[in-house]
Amino acid sequence: MKQFIIVLLLSFFMYSCGNDEYDWIDRSKHEGLINLNYSQNFEIYATQSNPENIKATIENLEFAKAYYDKIFNENLNFAVLFVDNKNWDKYAFSPPPGMPQAYHKGNMVLGLGKSVMAMNAEQSIQYMPEKAIQTLKTHFGQNIDLDKFFRDGLALHELGHLYQFYRTSNTAQRQWLNELFGNLCQVGAAKSMKDKTVFNQMDIYQNLLIQGNQWGNLKYTSLEQFERNYFDVMKDGRNYGWYQTRFYTIAKKLHNTYGDEIISKFREFLITSDRATFGKVSDQQLNTILLNKFGPEVVNTLEWEHSN
Ligand SMILES: [Zn+2]
Repeated sequence: MKQFIIVLLLSFFMYSCGNDEYDWIDRSKHEGLINLNYSQNFEIYATQSNPENIKATIENLEFAKAYYDKIFNENLNFAVLFVDNKNWDKYAFSPPPGMPQAYHKGNMVLGLGKSVMAMNAEQSIQYMPEKAIQTLKTHFGQNIDLDKFFRDGLALHELGHLYQFYRTSNTAQRQWLNELFGNLCQVGAAKSMKDKTVFNQMDIYQNLLIQGNQWGNLKYTSLEQFERNYFDVMKDGRNYGWYQTRFYTIAKKLHNTYGDEIISKFREFLITSDRATFGKVSDQQLNTILLNKFGPEVVNTLEWEHSN
């Protein structure tokens, strides 16, 4: 009897660990960082002991965690790494410093202080029409601060990836599917906030970039190129930004029509089409899977209008 109780207790303990308290975070990535107790709901590490300007990011993440936990039926633990420009290459997998990113095992890396990513983007604002600059000032302050987009806003996108990675392997069926999902999450979380500041910032900035069309010469424009040259595109912040604004536009269209349901359905699709389980499917097979799962209207919206 005693043995039975012990076994029962043990299996109960293992069951709880296997769910809510399952620790999937890769802690080797935290070496040399300072642990900050700024949240009860997730872990925070930084390259400085008293970092400024991360309050808004943390508030956004607190909100987004509650939203994702609800729509994905999870209780996810994760770690946020705030990394300044000079330590960026040590902790992130791709430059430029401040370009937000998520690791497969539970970590996201965000910029700290004035990031190179935001500085570059702020510099290119001067080539925008005066009216566009004024619009940006009303949403990002008189001294237009684009870390509000790249750190505070895109933190929602990276957290969406972590909810995906928690249930998938680290081999993507397609990078573009992952990125579309990141954008769906970002749109859904931002739109569900009562305060529309975060959504307005991401929407207005990206729309101005699309309208202004000041990308210059882009090396890659097709989805095939995005897949083949993913890290190359990423290192060129401008080309990556161009792709992301396209994914954002598609995600917004999908969310406008189908609401939060499309986000959880898309996550389910990413899990059930995991490359590690099913191998890499052909474009034709992928199209059939997408049609079966989402129907022709969604697949039409996914149609990529740019080729090289
Ligand atoms: Zn992403």
